[in-house]
Amino acid sequence: MLEDKNPQRTSLEKLGEFGLIDHLTKNFEIKHKSTLKGIGDDAAVFDHKQQTVLTTDFLIEGVHFDLSYMPLKHLGYKAVMVNLSDVYAMNAKATQITVSLAVSNRFPLEALEELYAGIALASKVYNVDLIGGDTTTSTSGMLISITAVGEAKKEEITYRSGAKPNDLLVVSGDLGAAYMGLQVLEREKEVFKVNPNNQPDLSPYSYIVERQLKPEARKDIAELLKQLDVLPTAMIDISDGLSSEILHLCKNSKVGCNLFEEKIPLDPTVITTCEEFNIDSTMVALSGGEDYELLFTIAQNDFDKIKGNPNLTVIGHMTEPSEGAHLVTRANTKIELTAQGWNSFKSND
Ligand code: ADP
Ligand code: MG
Repeated sequence: MLEDKNPQRTSLEKLGEFGLIDHLTKNFEIKHKSTLKGIGDDAAVFDHKQQTVLTTDFLIEGVHFDLSYMPLKHLGYKAVMVNLSDVYAMNAKATQITVSLAVSNRFPLEALEELYAGIALASKVYNVDLIGGDTTTSTSGMLISITAVGEAKKEEITYRSGAKPNDLLVVSGDLGAAYMGLQVLEREKEVFKVNPNNQPDLSPYSYIVERQLKPEARKDIAELLKQLDVLPTAMIDISDGLSSEILHLCKNSKVGCNLFEEKIPLDPTVITTCEEFNIDSTMVALSGGEDYELLFTIAQNDFDKIKGNPNLTVIGHMTEPSEGAHLVTRANTKIELTAQGWNSFKSND
């Protein structure tokens, strides 16, 4: 599906491991004072004045990404986003990343340059320093592991465990778009297999395809909440779908939850694409995943501070644990939330 825009192919063997690392990382600048030593020694050194948060994620070809429709530059960008999202979900500021890479010899240098162009763009836009990593070969495919480091004041770090009954449940942005973007890309891949001359017109789906291929972590939300003087009581990022993230908050905070179907924010493209694919848009928001929005709880007293903000939607409230976690449908029936996909969910209907 992707045209080969870069016909030049330089074999990785020509550079050797150290030449490769130097080549890929030479244009990265250190931006943070807290980075004392970045790439080039046995270990990086940093000096945080506050508490440090650290998170790591694996992305594996064929499991987490498909290079037939994922441009490598986007993959590099997304791999950074996935990690930064976890840092922001702690209400922390992301400061440093490491990138570990295993690649088979089917990838030329030019492919890794593309990947690192995406990593460089993400590092610039999100203001993080690349301070190290590891590079090795794989017998098949590509594996990327990124670790992100951040810092935050002790009293500002937001855990999954702080939600109280009656707290409001709030989500940033809108949900389900990344999943529907993936459905469109998968469909076009099948069409392409049958007819390789058919270049798909993805323009009607540009929002949802972009949400799948180039997600943005919500750095702005932690900053916004600080401006509004709101400290969330609990927070998590939405990587696996709203339903499973709500259940994490409930379990860790020992509370229940009522989620209101009519409040779930959906982009119009998600609604029309769900109609086209004959999928229930609520199920997509609940189980779709990869939205990388933030889900958090606030004290009811803070409601006035966030009211009317276009980035934030109140979608429910927390309850006593004995009440359990439920979706309140548009028809005002209550369905128990489950972490699984919609098949098991449907059997509850
Ligand atoms: P060592 O053998 O001591 O583990 P390496 O030769 O693997 O060191 O790495 C040399 C330096 O390059 C280290 O600072 C390491 O963190 C950095 N590095 C290695 N691979 C990458 C990569 N893919 N991206 C960024 N930095 C890397
Ligand atoms: Mg090493």
